[in-house]
Amino acid sequence: MPQAPVATVLTIDDEEVIRRSFQAYLEDSGFEVLQAHNGRVGLDVFREHHPDIVLVDLRMPEMDGLEVLATVVREAPDVPIIVVSGTGMIQDAIEALRLGAWDYVLKPVEDLGILEHSVRRALERARLIKENKAYRENLENLVRRRTTELHDRTRQLEETNQRLQNEVGERIAAEAKYRSIFENAIEGIFQVNHQGVLVSANPAMARILGYQSPQELMDNVGNFCSRLCEDAGKREKFFRVLEDHGSVQAFEVQTSRLDGQALWASVNAHTVTGKTGETVRFEGTLEDISDHKRFEEQLLHQSLHDALTGLPNRALFTDRLSQAIYRCSRQNSFFALLYLDVDRFKVINDSLGHAQGDQFLMKLAERLRSCTREADTLARLGGDEFAVISEQVRSLSGATMVAERILEEMRRPFNIDGHEIYSTVSIGIICCTGFCGTAEEVLRDADLTMYRAKSNGKARYEVFDNALQEQTIQLLTMETEFRRALAKNEFELHYQPIVDVNTGAVVTLEALLRWKHPERGYIPPLDFIPMAEENGLIVPLGWWVLEEACRQLAHLQALFPRSAPLGMSVNISAKQFAQADLGQKLETLLSHSRVAPGTLELEITESVIMDRGEAAIGMLEELKSLGLKLFVDDFGTGYSSLSYLHRFPIDMLKIDRSFIREIDATGGHAEIVRAIVGLGRNLGLGLIAEGVETEAQLAVIRTLGCQLAQGFLFSRPCPAAEIENYLAANRVEPTD
Ligand code: C2E
Ligand code: CA
Ligand code: CA
Repeated sequence: MPQAPVATVLTIDDEEVIRRSFQAYLEDSGFEVLQAHNGRVGLDVFREHHPDIVLVDLRMPEMDGLEVLATVVREAPDVPIIVVSGTGMIQDAIEALRLGAWDYVLKPVEDLGILEHSVRRALERARLIKENKAYRENLENLVRRRTTELHDRTRQLEETNQRLQNEVGERIAAEAKYRSIFENAIEGIFQVNHQGVLVSANPAMARILGYQSPQELMDNVGNFCSRLCEDAGKREKFFRVLEDHGSVQAFEVQTSRLDGQALWASVNAHTVTGKTGETVRFEGTLEDISDHKRFEEQLLHQSLHDALTGLPNRALFTDRLSQAIYRCSRQNSFFALLYLDVDRFKVINDSLGHAQGDQFLMKLAERLRSCTREADTLARLGGDEFAVISEQVRSLSGATMVAERILEEMRRPFNIDGHEIYSTVSIGIICCTGFCGTAEEVLRDADLTMYRAKSNGKARYEVFDNALQEQTIQLLTMETEFRRALAKNEFELHYQPIVDVNTGAVVTLEALLRWKHPERGYIPPLDFIPMAEENGLIVPLGWWVLEEACRQLAHLQALFPRSAPLGMSVNISAKQFAQADLGQKLETLLSHSRVAPGTLELEITESVIMDRGEAAIGMLEELKSLGLKLFVDDFGTGYSSLSYLHRFPIDMLKIDRSFIREIDATGGHAEIVRAIVGLGRNLGLGLIAEGVETEAQLAVIRTLGCQLAQGFLFSRPCPAAEIENYLAANRVEPTD
């Protein structure tokens, strides 16, 4: 296996002998030898084979050795080049060494060992130079790397430094900002240590609690937690939430300011823990929500109170009633409920206006308050309805005393804008012991009792009893039956003559309604008309009455033709009178019936007319224009305004039978009848006495100048067939 050559030598020389001798010698010494016979070829070989060392002659044709030398040194400065020359001229040697030759060997080379030595020495030097250069390069690389590393590090440090500087700047700015927030916040900000001592507070905190400064607050507040939340149970809850969740949100506490003023606050807080997780303190904010709370309370108050009078409203009243019932049933105690309704409040409202109506209600509320005790609940249930719960009274007589006090108070006039207004109330009283039903039931019963007070004449009180309750139930069953009766037409009209007191002639008939109940027989109108009025069924029923009365009247007029035809009067209820199309419908009815003109009469009670106030005038005039006659029924029992009376286009007053009844056999007690007759005459109205039962009564009214009368003395109300007989037997023609 041939040994790897020690190195490759290029010999450039034009003398073949010399080249050969060099080659032989150097190859023997282990070198590889390349040859070139002139400089140009020598450079080609050099460029192609990259020898480790070059031996070059100086004197050569084509390109001399110095040029080769210069080129090699330029192209490969690390490759040693040795000049082997025979010129022997010192200038050549100097020039060669100056151009970069590594050695100069003189020709002829007697001892080739010297050449080899020179070659080996040059190669060794080249190796050293190369190593040195590599080492230097390494070193330089290292230095360069280190330098860049150092640079990088420095830059990093600079950056870090800058960042730190920025952060410090920001911290300072933030600190200033937070301090400003702390100082200027509207909310109180606080820190409390684990012993409950306030360790930090902002000015707002001090201000909210009524202190001059945070320092003053901290110096004087004592235990901050108990100061902030006076309710121990609530405080415990606060700490429990704080412990369980680490924070508390919008926790509302109630306390007081330093000056004693009530303070509501909403607290947000969280715990701050130490390194080992133990609570070191808690901190948070506090907002004064007193205004908000007050507003809330106001809203709550508004929702439970009547805006006009400031009294509890129905909602609050019902709640209080439930509580009273509850207490009453548990302790078997006693309470009374008074249910009040103003009599004819509508008249006040219509005649004076709503603003004055409101004023009246306010004054009334004041008076009622003066009649009740502090602990009673007085409420306005709506409109002109008020109610009182009294747990103070111990018996029914206690409750009636309250009612009497109220009725007494009502006797004084109310001064409304300079007007003296008299008003009355009707009161229903219900007394409860033990369990007495739900609030709704108790209220309903009280309401019902109040209505009884109204129907018994107003301006009075009635006490609820169970019989009344039964009556209610009866009324309910009756209502069901009544609807059925209406569908099956179980109604009938009876007729009662109204006669001329001087001649006994039948002038007109009053149509009176009867319910012919399949099991209970005839039910009198007073037992069902109030109910029909209440549920509105009186309207369709009233129309049936009008149609039936007209039909009957036309029939009777045909049967008994007279110069002054027979009349018929029909009772009109409040609900009917309130129908806007009453006139229109009556007009249609009259045009379809064969009733003689001016013979249909309408009876309207005094209170129905008065309750509608001004509106009644228009309606009455419209009816009048249809040729209808208008009678004021039950005159003297209601609320009369004489100043109104003359403005109403009415024809006759029917004197209520309670006044006629007063007239005794000797003719005494006729004062009221005399007064009414006098009034009627003054107003140019006709007069009918109702309920004439005795000859004595008849004699008195005749003397007083009352032209017409109605009553059992002449005839009871009777069915159509009977009235025909009556008229046939009583053929006296009325005189005008
Ligand atoms: P009212 O309009 O005052 O009718 C007269 C009432 O007095 C009738 O009672 C009649 O039977 C009764 N009466 C007549 N003469 C005498 C007498 O000499 N002595 C006594 N004690 N009573 C006498 P009735 O028929 O029970 O009617 C009661 C009320 O029912 C009527 O009172 C009226 O307000 C109402 N009413 C009757 N029919 C109708 C109707 O068709 N529609 C409306 N809305 N109400 C009616
Ligand atoms: Ca009547
Ligand atoms: Ca009457």
